[in-house]
Amino acid sequence: RHVPPHIAAAEARANGEGAAGCTDVAPIKQRGQHEVFCGLTSIIWLHRKVQDAFFLIVGSRTCAHLMQSAAGVMIFAEPRFGTAIIDDRDLSGMADMYEELDKVVDRLIARRPDIRMLVLVGSCPSEVIKLDLGRAAQKLNARMAPHVRVLSYSGSGIETTFTQGEDNFLHALVEATPKAAPDAPRQLLVAGCLADVVEDQFTRIFNGLGIDNVHFLPARAAGEVPPIGANTTVLMAQPYLTETAKLLARRGADVLIAPFPLGEEGTTAWLRAAADAFDVPGDRFDAITGAGRERAAKAVSLYRERLEGKRVFFFPDSQMEPSLARFLSREAGADILEVGTPYLNKGHMAPDLALLPDTVRLAEGQDVDKQIDRCRADDPDLIICGMGLGNPFEAEGRTTKWSIEFAFTPIQGYEQAGDLAELFARPIRRRDLLQVEV
Ligand code: SF4
Repeated sequence: RHVPPHIAAAEARANGEGAAGCTDVAPIKQRGQHEVFCGLTSIIWLHRKVQDAFFLIVGSRTCAHLMQSAAGVMIFAEPRFGTAIIDDRDLSGMADMYEELDKVVDRLIARRPDIRMLVLVGSCPSEVIKLDLGRAAQKLNARMAPHVRVLSYSGSGIETTFTQGEDNFLHALVEATPKAAPDAPRQLLVAGCLADVVEDQFTRIFNGLGIDNVHFLPARAAGEVPPIGANTTVLMAQPYLTETAKLLARRGADVLIAPFPLGEEGTTAWLRAAADAFDVPGDRFDAITGAGRERAAKAVSLYRERLEGKRVFFFPDSQMEPSLARFLSREAGADILEVGTPYLNKGHMAPDLALLPDTVRLAEGQDVDKQIDRCRADDPDLIICGMGLGNPFEAEGRTTKWSIEFAFTPIQGYEQAGDLAELFARPIRRRDLLQVEV
């Protein structure tokens, strides 16, 4: 019998053997000033993934500058995102915002006939002036479908942190997807944006397990998302999709709960959750995953010496923090001090939390000054934090890693386990080299 580690941990607890990791640790909940990117930032990876979509931010010059500097690689390419600037004339009510938006969209579609999905993305300014982008999208849809589908969601910093932008986008995408017929064939839907290379690797593994009807959300093309209903088993590839998962469940889909696919252990447990749901025999599972597991464990072992025993502090950023910490603790031997996350979905995170030591301090939300004080008092060997905190901490002689890199880099799956370990090990190596030179 193949028992995923989180199930084993739960069973052990039920039998009174050992602790359930961090499952019962009450998080520090703080709602003070927080330093996290807004939901617009997720467009940086979403626009690369959905290749016939265009993300039109309806926002201010600040939003445009943020996007241009965060994704400043677009100079030589035809970008698949842009900003319709709300200017003073719009704000003072001298212009009809909906008419202005229509004009911008018409110009865009005339110039870019390759666009099949137009996504209107709300921002703080559009929210403050109560621009109803849902209604605007509906009206545009009536005019432009089926050639162009128009969706809308909010990426505003008032409502979202950066990975929640993806959650809102996928929620809108599922809402616009038809319901599957009752007799539709069974399918596996992997929810959460993954790099194409990772998606291809997982597809090969699922096919090897005999699971052939596999789809990804979002898909690479706007029209490729299949109808979704009771025929759908959902495997979450990213931990920050709370709203999307709720909607999928309301559609009748079976949403699997598993550790997220980071590292050898997480990837195996994640794949096993799907394999169990599709009744894949244990020996077939071992045969298909065995070589990948070995490669992943070997790749991570190359970095273990540098990471083992290192004391690590996570500031909240992407909601991936508990899974990253679980990987770092169990596969690289690091000592995790605090795991901050903007929002802790205890249901989705339960398997990862069960695998974290119960000595870990959990923190949900942020009061940044208090968290900085805790971090300084801990004096960790490595701090995972946002860009705004990274440089000041470095100036204090501390070692940091920008958490946004874990969202931009392909880190899921067996073949990327070594790269994931390397992301943590690199700043420690740099510090060691600098200390030697001094
Ligand atoms: Fe700033 Fe809000 Fe625009 Fe994000 S959406 S860049 S937080 S103004």
